[in-house]
Amino acid sequence: MEVFMAKYGEIALKGNNKRLFEERMVRNIKHRLSGLGDFKYSRAQSTLYITPKSETADFNEIERRLLTVFGIGAVQRSLALPKNYEEIVRLGVPYLEKALANAKTFKVEAKRADKTFPMNSMELMREFGGEIWEAYQKKQKPLEVDLHNPDVVVYLEIRDTHAYLCPNKLQGAGGIPVGASGRALVLLSGGIDSPVAAYMMAKRGMTLDMLHFQSPPYTSERALMKVESLCEKLAEYCGEINLYCVNLTEAQEDIRDNAPEEYMTVLLRRVMMKIAAKLSAKNYCSAIITGESVGQVASQTPAAIICTDDASPLPVYRPVIGMDKIEITAIARKIGTFDISTLPYEDCCTVFTPRRPKLKPFLSDIKKLEERLNADLIENFMEKTTIKAF
Ligand code: ATP
Ligand code: MG
Repeated sequence: MEVFMAKYGEIALKGNNKRLFEERMVRNIKHRLSGLGDFKYSRAQSTLYITPKSETADFNEIERRLLTVFGIGAVQRSLALPKNYEEIVRLGVPYLEKALANAKTFKVEAKRADKTFPMNSMELMREFGGEIWEAYQKKQKPLEVDLHNPDVVVYLEIRDTHAYLCPNKLQGAGGIPVGASGRALVLLSGGIDSPVAAYMMAKRGMTLDMLHFQSPPYTSERALMKVESLCEKLAEYCGEINLYCVNLTEAQEDIRDNAPEEYMTVLLRRVMMKIAAKLSAKNYCSAIITGESVGQVASQTPAAIICTDDASPLPVYRPVIGMDKIEITAIARKIGTFDISTLPYEDCCTVFTPRRPKLKPFLSDIKKLEERLNADLIENFMEKTTIKAF
């Protein structure tokens, strides 16, 4: 019988409230695996065992989805065996055939959690490793033991009810389960940075709402579809997501017509923050998340960030603030948002960009300029908002 072992990551280190984290993770896993059949779940020794009830379940898809659930430190698709050494050899060696098909070297790592098992870890490694080696000598297929840099590491764990054999231990998504750290609102553009920022805060356990600004007719329907694709992708990690889409056209035209060109960007970012803060209050969000990184563009100089921050009563989390584009891009590729983010559609921020934006704006100047703008456009933003669930 094949089972999945989801080994806890950070949760294993939690003290009194470990159970809460665990329950949250199990709930998220159940949600993530829905549609893939029925499963039996059980927990022991900082591991969640997930057993598909049907032999014909799509094991590869189950594994792929488990790798996106935060809180899981490692995913081990394993063969559950009776705790009897002869049986482990009889059933285990053939089970490894596929995993060892292209390997030239291997080693066995054994762990005996059940100390009543008659062989200790060292003996298991040596004996079981020997059995595998011998089986391949008979097949006249070269397979040698390499303790330092093997092609395949075979894990054999003797646990409470069974022995588990796994030739392919995969690193899990890490972090802590979504929902364990409250709720936040992400300012989601169609760019590379903000989806990465969203991913990073979901990894810290935050449930996310998404807020996107568009400016039709300056921005197109396709730009919106791109953001929807990003939400679909992010939902694989974040669970259910609500996307709030706010029409910013009038507010942007107001700034264009009534403020000096060099201040346009900072003023627009403050409008975004004020709307985000209002929406956060409605949805009980405790923070706003952006994809800003110091120095990347004019609106992300330290002076500009002071002006942006001032517009929000809530803390603004900027998880990529100290990362460079290469580092952010590497994460975007890993989580599958990069190819969507690089589709060429315009963002509302690039609609009326000043030729020479103010790099060191003063907050007092900004506040004076804001007096000329129509505050109702911010106050009544919900009238220009649509909501879509992912
Ligand atoms: P990104 O790659 O995330 O678009 P960026 O480097 O292009 O970031 P800016 O365009 O200055 O930087 O935007 C900074 C941040 O402001 C973004 O990371 C995002 O959080 C937010 N933002 C920008 N445009 C929008 C938008 N149209 N809707 C919602 N949030 C936005
Ligand atoms: Mg952008």
